Amino acid sequence: MASVSGFCGGVKRALGLAYDACRQCTGRVYVAGELVHNKEAMENVKAAGVKLFRNCNLEKITPHDVLLIRAHGCPREQWAKFRKLFNTVIDGTCPHVVGISKMVECESGKGKTILLIGDKSHPEVQTLVSFAKDDKVYIIGSEAELDLLKNGLGQILVIAQSTIDESFFKSFASKISKLYPHAEIKNTICVSSRRRQQAILNFKKEGIEAVVVAGGIHSNNTRTLAQIARKIGLTVFHVETASDLPIQKLKTFQVIGVIGGTSTDEKTTKQMIVDLLALEN
Ligand code: SF4
Repeated sequence: MASVSGFCGGVKRALGLAYDACRQCTGRVYVAGELVHNKEAMENVKAAGVKLFRNCNLEKITPHDVLLIRAHGCPREQWAKFRKLFNTVIDGTCPHVVGISKMVECESGKGKTILLIGDKSHPEVQTLVSFAKDDKVYIIGSEAELDLLKNGLGQILVIAQSTIDESFFKSFASKISKLYPHAEIKNTICVSSRRRQQAILNFKKEGIEAVVVAGGIHSNNTRTLAQIARKIGLTVFHVETASDLPIQKLKTFQVIGVIGGTSTDEKTTKQMIVDLLALEN
């Protein structure tokens, strides 16, 4: 089992707010999108009473209903919409994402151009972009997109989506530095993501042959862990739950590592270890 496991601080906080709201709220508790990108965690909060906002009948919202913003945050214009619809909006945005949002707002406000390395379809990236003043932000997902940038960007600040591959960010940032020598680089990948990425690299050093990456198929940090493991030559099985483990294939390996994404419950990874140890008998 990887040295780091269980929910990260941001996910733990968002789930805690959801369960508290279900206990304390006399109306319905809605969440704007998936609270966290994990099937099991979402099933559990839904069982506790959380409902998806996209299924909400706007005409039936009552003054007692609340809306919870998910861990990835929410674009500013949507915040305004939710505040009009609901008396209570609970901010479940991860504090790390809040910190990057403030940085984007402040630095673009000073006239800097923000180059955000990340996936433009991801809700966190959409949140961060919405905080930029005067549209002074470019999302860059590939080196080809770097070539499309116009000249005259002025002062540049380079930042990262919080869950991307750190080695990708560093090599990308060094290319940007060559093109724009005065660009300021801030590694905004969160500690939880970085620790897990390091744990994958340690697996390789420890002689592990195959890795089970446990977590949501749509979870960016979990997909990143799987990509890093493939990149360094490990065989990867990305599964969501213990019952998805491909037992017959795993039987062909002697040394297997298990790691969970930041939105994967430690119980899930522990169950996987139990199931894998049972193969030895
Ligand atoms: S992965 Fe990082 S940024 Fe995302 S919720 Fe967890 S701590 Fe926050």
